[in-house]
Amino acid sequence: MSEALQKEETRLPGIDASPGICIGKAYLLDNEGVNIVERYPVAKGQLKNEQNRFKAAVKRAEKELQRVIQNTPEYLRQNTAILEAHLVLLKDKMLYGKTLEAIEKEGINAEWALKMVVTQARNMFASMEDAYFRERVSDIIHVSDRILQNLMGSKPVDIGAIDKRVILVARDLSPAETSQIHLERVKGFVTDLGGKASHTSIIARTLEIPAVQGVGDATRKICTDDLIIVDGIEGVVILHPEESTLVEYSEREVEFARRKATLARLSHRPARTRDGIDIKVMGNIELPEEVVSVLDHGGDGIGLYRTEFQYLSRPFFPTEEELFDRYCDVVEVMAGLPVTIRTLDINGDKALANGGVPGAGEVNPALGLRGIRYCLKKTEVFRTQLRAILRAAAFGPIRVLFPMIATLEEVVEAKRCLREAAESLEKEGTEHGADVSVGVMIEVPSAVITAEALAERVDFFSIGTNDLIQYSLAIDRGNREVMHLFQPLDPAILRLLKITADAAKAGGIPLYMCGEMASYPIHLPVLIGLGIQELSMNPQAIPAVKNTLRALDTRQSRDFLEELLKQRSANAAYGLLAEAYGKLVEERSFPTEEEIG
Ligand code: PEP
Ligand code: MG
Repeated sequence: MSEALQKEETRLPGIDASPGICIGKAYLLDNEGVNIVERYPVAKGQLKNEQNRFKAAVKRAEKELQRVIQNTPEYLRQNTAILEAHLVLLKDKMLYGKTLEAIEKEGINAEWALKMVVTQARNMFASMEDAYFRERVSDIIHVSDRILQNLMGSKPVDIGAIDKRVILVARDLSPAETSQIHLERVKGFVTDLGGKASHTSIIARTLEIPAVQGVGDATRKICTDDLIIVDGIEGVVILHPEESTLVEYSEREVEFARRKATLARLSHRPARTRDGIDIKVMGNIELPEEVVSVLDHGGDGIGLYRTEFQYLSRPFFPTEEELFDRYCDVVEVMAGLPVTIRTLDINGDKALANGGVPGAGEVNPALGLRGIRYCLKKTEVFRTQLRAILRAAAFGPIRVLFPMIATLEEVVEAKRCLREAAESLEKEGTEHGADVSVGVMIEVPSAVITAEALAERVDFFSIGTNDLIQYSLAIDRGNREVMHLFQPLDPAILRLLKITADAAKAGGIPLYMCGEMASYPIHLPVLIGLGIQELSMNPQAIPAVKNTLRALDTRQSRDFLEELLKQRSANAAYGLLAEAYGKLVEERSFPTEEEIG
């Protein structure tokens, strides 16, 4: 009996960060070392030297990052934007300036000063409501780890040098490390830390390699050369799998690859329902570089461009010119397909990291100066972005989407700002799009309740279920303790969706959805039953959604929705949905050649 089979099969649950299955030997990356930092006092006369030692370490880290960027192969270039952001973060006042200050003020060594500053920044970011911003904590940690490695002389992990087909197991993988992964050498990865919205998982999905994150103690339980299975679909790692488990997962692995290939072949066809209704299936992006992935997966346009990413991890907000260039990149690649640019969905605490603004240090940022509220206060920031959007609109069909709308006045005010931006461009004779369609996110309960009035003022609605569920059920969308309440089919949510759909219909405007709810094929009968015309999601989800839509009938879905709305719990609604559509959805998400014809 082999050694692996003598050991007991163990399932390690985690988060399904990137779909797919792989089986192979683990390769443990030891990136723990940098955490062992000691504090020691530095004599007054030596403080300048200590500051210089820190500056030199930052310089070396900068050079390393530049080297990684230069050496990144062409097909992974889209990932280097994150590394560029890390380059900026290296010299950010928050990290660089404050560490130099701490060395002097506290009379301590550079390592400890950096660690103190990172802990403060970490606490500030961690208390943020938005999972996306919270995930940026990991950027700060990756950057500070790199500086620490240089200060302490420890060797950085050289993923690029791994020369066998392995599954990486690490405490955490930085975007820099992930972007060095050579697809022919690494099958997948497992990390103790991280979540679905982290950059690392974003890159894993872009690279399309299976990944499970947030396992907690993977690096303690798994050793190099252990045989493991990574199931990025269910979010589980199986250590020392038994023979029967290996057989089962080998079959699943083949099945997954076959399904993906079949779906990919079909993803460029339109998603036309059986009764002849065309539903547009669009992609959500955070960075202009992700736009290619939307096209590769058959996306019909960009349904949500989360523009806040370009404002993060940098000392100054981007200029109009910079934003204009990035928006033009997206428009150009999409070549005539619609691009929905959502204006800055930032919150007060996040803005503090960029130099201090109203709303900084809010006790409850989820209910604070977020999204449109922030933009209507910081009109210069808003105006800069609106001008850039309008200018890019001269080159393709752009839609503007306002986030976090809670009142009609906000819509009126935001539209006034947009008009003023257009007038200023007009006056200067600067080329810009004349006819930009304007929509609002429906993601705050008050917007649902007043949706009829809002519909009179805008060209479309886009439902953001991530926040709508958070604000309706009073649950922090990033808090694991209340995740059981995060149910898109909760009776309250279904009713809110119905009110929104009725209001859009009464107002004669199209209804879209860009929240995560849209990316699960099982929800599709509900969504087309509501009359939603366009769904937007992470690019990888597009093929299965399109293929499922082709098997549905909007009239039947409408009738079914009536029944669903009578249910008294999310569980009852799921039961009914699974009974009526479970088999069909499963087949369409895992189609055989014969089923497709
Ligand atoms: C949403 O709230 O559903 C949404 C799409 O926006 P975000 O996830 O960026 O808050
Ligand atoms: Mg939202």
